[in-house]
Amino acid sequence: MNKNENDKKVEFQEADILIIGGGTAGCLAGIEAREKNPGLSVIIMEKAHIDRSGCLAAGMNAINAYINPGETPESFVKYVRYDAMGLVREDLIKSAAEEINSVVKKVESWGLPVKKNKDGEYSPRGRWNIQINGESLKPIIAEKARSAGAKVLNRVAATNLIIKNGKVIGAFGLGVRDMKLYVIKARAVIVCTGGASGIYKPNNDGSAHHKMWYPPFNTGTGYAMGIRAGAEMTSFEMRFIALRTKDVISPTGTLAL
Ligand SMILES: Cc1cc2nc3c(=O)[nH]c(=O)nc-3n(C[C@H](O)[C@H](O)[C@H](O)COP(=O)(O)OP(=O)(O)OC[C@H]3O[C@@H](n4cnc5c(N)ncnc54)[C@H](O)[C@@H]3O)c2cc1C
Repeated sequence: MNKNENDKKVEFQEADILIIGGGTAGCLAGIEAREKNPGLSVIIMEKAHIDRSGCLAAGMNAINAYINPGETPESFVKYVRYDAMGLVREDLIKSAAEEINSVVKKVESWGLPVKKNKDGEYSPRGRWNIQINGESLKPIIAEKARSAGAKVLNRVAATNLIIKNGKVIGAFGLGVRDMKLYVIKARAVIVCTGGASGIYKPNNDGSAHHKMWYPPFNTGTGYAMGIRAGAEMTSFEMRFIALRTKDVISPTGTLAL
């Protein structure tokens, strides 16, 4: 390969904020950054396509964290602490709880159908959630990320953070369709690559290895990148192992309801 051919295989880009993973959190982080400061350049690097990637790919039927009337961020923290047997970072839960309801309102204003009762109030599904018609939730959020001005690199899988003098200054990605190496320089990098599926041996081996409810494509690469970069990894003491009905790959809560 001569030098010019080699150059075509490497793409350099620069942004104020690089977001790795364009799932729910990644898209919302991009929207928030651009809304707070439209002068910021934002790149979202997503290994699939933001329209239907990650946990929300097929949509969802409830928002499972909501402060219903009569509850408060403090009572939510108490519930999560109990549910997780005390293994929680209360400061993180509280700050999330304080934002939840306003984010739902925002996403509703972008077009998410939220079910309401006859008085026009959101319909609770349980103490801490509300019902939605969420099949199109991911395309709605993805479209908002694009219209908010975030630049999206679809089909680019991040492989590692770039570190200089102990500071993260960007990330490398591999274009899974164009086979290019992407080198993105950024003033700040936010990793939103979801959880890590498939850590434990499945009860169905062999061909059913990926028979799981959580996206098998969320492989924990963001955790690996963070650990290799020396980041403080927090809130890993408690693992959520979802209860499943044998041979049914869907949220058990929904089945029960
Ligand atoms: C089937 C299912 C049903 C659910 N139903 C509900 C529900 O009804 N109510 C509710 O409140 N919650 C529900 N959840 C949970 C909720 O959807 C998730 O908690 C939430 O969407 C997680 O968002 P996230 O951005 O952290 O991860 P994700 O949305 O999974 O986003 C991670 C993104 O990172 C990308 N990525 C991963 N690695 C890389 C890499 N190396 N480089 C680039 N990109 C990468 C992935 O492709 C993905 O797009 C459900 C989850 C599932 C799986």
